[in-house]
Order: sequence, then structure tokens, then C-alpha cells
Amino acid sequence: MFFKILKKSKKSKARLGLIQTPHGVIHTPAFYPVATKATVKCLSPEEIKEIGFEAVLSNTYHLYLRPGHQVVKKMGGLHKFMNWSGPIATDSGGFQVFSLGFGLEHGVGKISGFFPGNDKKPEKPVRLKLFKVNQKGVEFKSHLDGSKHFLTPEKSIQIQEALGADIIFAFDECTSPLSDYNYTKESMQRTHNWAEICLKTKKSKDQALFGIIQGSHWRDLRIKSAKFISQMPFEGLAIGGSLGKTKKDMYRILNWVIPEMPEQKPRHLLGIGHPDDLVKAVKNGVDLFDCVYPTRLARHGIFLTPKKELNILNARYESDKNPIMKNCSCYTCQNFSRAYLHHLFKTKEILGLRLSTFHNLWFIHRLMERIRQGIKIEKPLKI
Ligand SMILES: [Zn+2]
Repeated sequence: MFFKILKKSKKSKARLGLIQTPHGVIHTPAFYPVATKATVKCLSPEEIKEIGFEAVLSNTYHLYLRPGHQVVKKMGGLHKFMNWSGPIATDSGGFQVFSLGFGLEHGVGKISGFFPGNDKKPEKPVRLKLFKVNQKGVEFKSHLDGSKHFLTPEKSIQIQEALGADIIFAFDECTSPLSDYNYTKESMQRTHNWAEICLKTKKSKDQALFGIIQGSHWRDLRIKSAKFISQMPFEGLAIGGSLGKTKKDMYRILNWVIPEMPEQKPRHLLGIGHPDDLVKAVKNGVDLFDCVYPTRLARHGIFLTPKKELNILNARYESDKNPIMKNCSCYTCQNFSRAYLHHLFKTKEILGLRLSTFHNLWFIHRLMERIRQGIKIEKPLKI
């Protein structure tokens, strides 16, 4: 992998760049649509290409459980298996193992509305019921059939090598936003040890390995982790884990971490994809994003527009002749009214899911294009 910065903004920390991979180029700042189980839900690879995306990101955890990485390898690797000829990234599986565990236990995601002791929920110790961590790895139960698995940094790399993506990630422990300082510190040190093991384990020469910075919402831990992971011979760096309680916290964390990250390596903010955040995080120096947000919203009948999200199930669209967005040149907006899309969602027709996914990804792709253009010509970045 080769990363080149083409231009740095004079107004912000934004950078325009490109990543050369064995399967083609990714122009950055870029957004990866998420192909969780080797498919971007509802769309074909041709449609993803037609929208303009150069790369997708798949989930190691899901592919390991089904169909199994050995099956994918036997079928010629992930590119061949899913018929996607462009660059692919796979995450390490860490986020799913831990977030399915603590997410189910605490009902929290990457940005949590509460923290121990200071908000809605009373402080309680984090009990690891759905997974058990030790220095070697993590034992977890499959969300599919309850079968027990033990995932280690070595195994995560071996699985990702079998899948054969262009960009792979080091195995990390993703802590719950409800984990306390001491646990988060201990976990961060484990993630650092695992980062070393991942680098030692990796044998493939044509895959780029990204290291992951942890430390949750604690300044000293985030800075320590950013310094530690940045000095290791990773080809790219990612900011993972809990990003605080509010969006403001997330930007505070970016401000701690990004100055510690080397200029010449691509920076990936894991799991964030709200249009507003894409613009702001690029201004803070982030190059890569992945998130299920646009595609998941689409499947709930929620369309992205510059002003607000439009819920097509709302009764006011029942006989609305307008397209979702007047100035959108996507197939959905060019050919269908809000009334028709309302009808498709009301009657649970599959076409509705396809048309909404197409529009939302088109919206995100055009946004990234405008972001890149904005850096090029020094135009203020807006949604
Ligand atoms: Zn559209």
C-alpha cells in the first residue's frame, strides 16, 4: 500500500490524498460503504461502483462465523467471492466481539448517552458475561448459535489473511463507555500488546495493516495510546473505541489524538458516518470513514437530505409528487416520487429498500466528492 498526500488545506487540518492498493486507488477523504457479510445490504457491487465508491469494508467477525474464512479462501478470496474488484478493507473482529457483548449488556453504542456515576444510570461494575478477556485473547459466544469461540490477535490476522482484503486491522479490545478508568487503562495496555503480536503474525506482503488507538474518553490514555500505536510500523492508523458522551467529546478526542499521529500515514475514524461528522472530522485531519449509518437508516425508510433526515413512512408523503431531493441526480430521485416510495415502504416491498439505500449512499458519496473538491479549491466545507 502506498499513501500520498496531494494537498493540505490552509484553512483546516483537512488533507486530500490517495491510497494505492493492489486492487486500485482510494481517493481520500473517503467513506467505505459497509459490506458486513460480504455484501452492502440491498445493492449489487455494480451499483456500488455506479454510485462511485472505490472501496468497501467487510466485517471479519461475521465472515469468520459465516460462511467461515476457509470457505472464502477456497472460493478465491473475498474479492472473487463477492465479485468486487476494487479495494476492500476488513476490520479485526474486535469491535463486534466486544460491542455485541457490552452493547447487549448495557444498551450502549460508540457514543453513549451516559457514563458511570454522572448520569441517567447508577454506577455499576462492568460484568463481562458475554465475553471473557485474558491476556491472550477473548472468549465469546456466537450471536448466531451460542457456540463458544476464542479470538486472539494471531487468529484475527490469520482470518484476515485468508479473507485477503487490501487493508486489514490489528485486533483490539474495544471497551464499553461504562468501563472505568482502571479497566480502560488495563485494556489499552492489552490492545498495545496485541498490536505487537499482530505485526509479528502478519505474513502477507500485499495487505496493509492498520493499528488501532484506544483509550476511550480519557485524555491521558488516548494520548498515550496515540503515541504508542503511532511509533509502530503500521501502514495506517485508526481511532477506535468509545468516543465519549456527546459529539463534542468526540471532537475533543480527535483533538487529543490527531496531533500525535504521523502526517504520512492515513487516518481512519472507525464507525462514524453521520454527514455532519464526516465534514467536521475531515477538517480535524481524518482521511477514512466506515459506517452502517446511511444503509441502516435507508432500510428504516429514512432518507438523507442536506437539511434533515426524511422519514418516508410519514403520512404527509402519501400523495407527495416530489422526489426525495429535487437536485439529486441519483436513480431514485430521478425516477420516483415520495408518494411511490411511501407506498413501497408501507407495503414492505423490497424495491423500497433498494431505492432508499441507493439514494443514501449516493448522498454520502456526493458529499465526500464535494469535501475532496472543497479541499482542492480551498472552499469552506459544508454538507
Ligand atoms: Zn437521490
